[in-house]
Amino acid sequence: MGDMGDMGGVGGAVTIEAAYVVVGGGSSGAVVAGRLAERGADVVLLEAGPDYGSVGDPRWAPELVDARQLATTHDWGYTAGRWTFERARVIGGCSSHNGAIAAVGHRRDYDAWGLPGWTGDDVEPLYRTVVERMRVRAYDRSDAVPFHEHCLVVAEAMGLHVASDLCDLDANASFGLETVNVVDGVRWNTAFAYLDPVRDRPNLRIVDHVLVDRIAEEAGGVTIHTVRDGEPLVVRAGTLVLSAGVYGTPAILQRSGIGDPDRLRAVGVTPVLDLPGVGANLHDHSMVIADRAIGPELQRHLDVAAATGFLPEEQTLGKFVSSLSLDGLYDIHAFPVCASNQTSMLHGRVGIEVACMTPRSRGRLDITSPDPQAAPSIDHGYCTDPEGHDLAVLREGLAFASEMLDHPVLASLLGDVVTDVSTDRAVLDAVAHYYHPVGTCAMGTHDAAVCDGRGRVRGLQHVVVADASLFHQIPRANTNLPAVMVGERIASWL
Ligand SMILES: Cc1cc2nc3c(=O)[nH]c(=O)nc-3n(C[C@H](O)[C@H](O)[C@H](O)COP(=O)(O)OP(=O)(O)OC[C@H]3O[C@@H](n4cnc5c(N)ncnc54)[C@H](O)[C@@H]3O)c2cc1C
Repeated sequence: MGDMGDMGGVGGAVTIEAAYVVVGGGSSGAVVAGRLAERGADVVLLEAGPDYGSVGDPRWAPELVDARQLATTHDWGYTAGRWTFERARVIGGCSSHNGAIAAVGHRRDYDAWGLPGWTGDDVEPLYRTVVERMRVRAYDRSDAVPFHEHCLVVAEAMGLHVASDLCDLDANASFGLETVNVVDGVRWNTAFAYLDPVRDRPNLRIVDHVLVDRIAEEAGGVTIHTVRDGEPLVVRAGTLVLSAGVYGTPAILQRSGIGDPDRLRAVGVTPVLDLPGVGANLHDHSMVIADRAIGPELQRHLDVAAATGFLPEEQTLGKFVSSLSLDGLYDIHAFPVCASNQTSMLHGRVGIEVACMTPRSRGRLDITSPDPQAAPSIDHGYCTDPEGHDLAVLREGLAFASEMLDHPVLASLLGDVVTDVSTDRAVLDAVAHYYHPVGTCAMGTHDAAVCDGRGRVRGLQHVVVADASLFHQIPRANTNLPAVMVGERIASWL
């Protein structure tokens, strides 16, 4: 339970007031709140899930701190058809349940945004701070469990450039041990990195179990309508920072009447501000696995590694350039995965996951009701780009992954293919996602931009977005560190 701070009754509803209110204590929001608090600003952080306190507090559920596998508790439960779209509902947000793989993409990803303050040169010093704060380190070769060690041997045998640091804005095609934000087996989330140092400060109030419904801008600030323990709670902010994530932030704006007027009316919301880009431009890295059954010798290796208590599913990563790359830079992530037990999503397989890092497919998010408890409609449109670019990139990545798996060093440890990915149809049936949705409140200067280049919602005076929904085009990176960087960048401008 968070600290409710000073509250008074206004118009029958309990209220909290602060100069800055941050909605969502996730990868970006915890950073914004932490940085503002460090500067002595009056900050309230509202989080829908629980706040379990500082690192080491026994309230943290073991699966949230154990970095070896993804945690499946504390999830918002979003689904669409065969898809599940995991999002954490807890302080630290997705940084509290994710794979803790640390990546930054290529500097040209940021140059391509064309926005002052966000170029590769601009974000480089921010990333240096983020890497330090998130305690990022590369796995050492001596950490590599047998399957990943064999992958490194194969990469060397195939003549790939084996890199010692993949978390580098200038690195291109390479294979190597991953960089992670894991400290002694603990998933180092943004709550530990950015909130713990300021938790004792009286100018920071963290209020958990608060579901933000909608907002209304008025002279001098913003009124935020929320629900806590089934009761309405009204919060007033001088400046509101929306960091509720790629699904949460556009949903709050849409419930507030900010979005495409026709779509809003269709679900019973009165339009207030015409911003059709809200919820549009949803995209992610599509992903598919080249898998194999586990041979008996590898099974023994995995069981031994698991028994020693250290068997991370992911440890190595390849960046590859497909023939479709327009800039000569890598557009494929290929990362080997292994696990020994049945609780893993791998279900007795190993393989190489392949992701399209420059997706052109786009989908959208729309609320289905004004009720904040109602799940939104989420359509990612994976591999639906008309030119077939994303599917073609995945197929090249699969060919490369199969070449690695079929190399004698690995093939001798592996059984048959489990999932058919031999045709376009089979790939489309098997396609999954890399857990990196972005883009639903894109910043930019184009007509569809929801926010300006400083994250300010166009047409509003006191509302700023700071989370992964700001990305107009996803970087070639796992998106946790980019989201942390966004928190640093926006906080520096507040
Ligand atoms: C299973 C999984 C594995 C991943 N693995 C990796 C990885 O290994 N490496 C990597 O770099 N990236 C990984 N990612 C992606 C990365 O974690 C996310 O891109 C990043 O955390 C997004 O940060 P964010 O601040 O935009 O949103 P979030 O971290 O999701 O934060 C949003 C916060 O807002 C809260 N919230 C939402 N709506 C409301 C509301 N209405 N009221 C109040 N609070 C609200 C949420 O509870 C949450 O705490 C993974 C993601 C998942 C789901």
